[in-house]
Amino acid sequence: MDARQEELRRRLGELGFDDVRFARLSPGQDPARLGSWLEAGHHADMDWMERTKEKRGDPGLVLPGARSAVLLGVSYFGDEAREPGLPAWARYSLNADYHDTVKRGLERAGAVIEEVMGAGPSDYRYYVDTGPVLERAWSARAGLGFVGKNAMLISRRHGNWLFLAAILTVLDLEGDPPVRDRGDPGAVGLLCGSCTRCLSACPTDAFPRPGVVDARRCISYHTIENRGVIPRAFRQAIGNRIYGCDTCLEVCPWNRFARKGRGLLLSTRGDIARIPLREILELTPERFAEVFRGTAVKRLKLRGLLRNACIVAGNSGDRGLLEPLLALLRHEFPLVRAHAVWAVARLGGLDPLRESLPGESDPAVLAEYEQEGLRAS
Ligand code: SF4
Repeated sequence: MDARQEELRRRLGELGFDDVRFARLSPGQDPARLGSWLEAGHHADMDWMERTKEKRGDPGLVLPGARSAVLLGVSYFGDEAREPGLPAWARYSLNADYHDTVKRGLERAGAVIEEVMGAGPSDYRYYVDTGPVLERAWSARAGLGFVGKNAMLISRRHGNWLFLAAILTVLDLEGDPPVRDRGDPGAVGLLCGSCTRCLSACPTDAFPRPGVVDARRCISYHTIENRGVIPRAFRQAIGNRIYGCDTCLEVCPWNRFARKGRGLLLSTRGDIARIPLREILELTPERFAEVFRGTAVKRLKLRGLLRNACIVAGNSGDRGLLEPLLALLRHEFPLVRAHAVWAVARLGGLDPLRESLPGESDPAVLAEYEQEGLRAS
């Protein structure tokens, strides 16, 4: 490989990127899978995915003249322990928002590309997670990992605990080899063998087939992306997951090779995992802003977090949580009241629910009361 490319790889590694790979791009390489996923409605209400479909299929629409991509992995695998009796958070969320921290690394990466490759500022564009680019497919093409049956990119060195970033560029870079030199490098389950652990571990049966997640059934989608009512059919399966779900990631045997990330582009927030559920149920707007400032959780807003906390409380069997839940029956947001009704009923608080019913007028909340057999007279 070109000496300058190897120098670039080394310098980007020094910035904190745990894996650095190169892919050559051409239009129409990867869009078929995305198209059929969208057509099946598996993206739920994430309409932005539909709107950016064309760009994802043609990198030249994102950056005219784009020929290559630099794929970057940042490991967020650490030693944070799951504390029994406390709400479960997706591992990645126990860090400051990676959109900000990894982006700062990408800004520095841009300067390195200019210096090492003689590129100009308009010769590249970078994205971490939110851009109209196929970073997972490109990463598979470049051998950063393979697409597992759990639809995640799985690295042989980092398991599936990677934030992926992509730098799209007009530079003509030599591509790295995929993990296997025959067949389609983007094929699902290249190194899964006969394993199906992730598919059978999913609590809500969200995989219609290997490598395909139906967001409408996915706990991560419902607890993070969904801004509305979480369907009753999934609430029990959510268990104690207050934000996201790592089940299909945790069970993957490739994680046994995962090394602890260097964390150079992260800022850990392990304190979040130690907040008792009762304290979350009692969060004020001021306290929410203070605790979750600079984290991805902040985008869920207090009402979204309280919605999730109600479900976790309802599943806890802890009648000691009835007191904060009863207070949430009078919360200003109907979304919170609706889920508080469900949780109070699960904990056997039908009498206080009956008493609170006459004060309720929102149709969505009244529908929850009705589901519990309580009707406004
Ligand atoms: Fe593949 Fe098994 Fe990992 Fe699922 S759990 S991604 S099937 S290796």
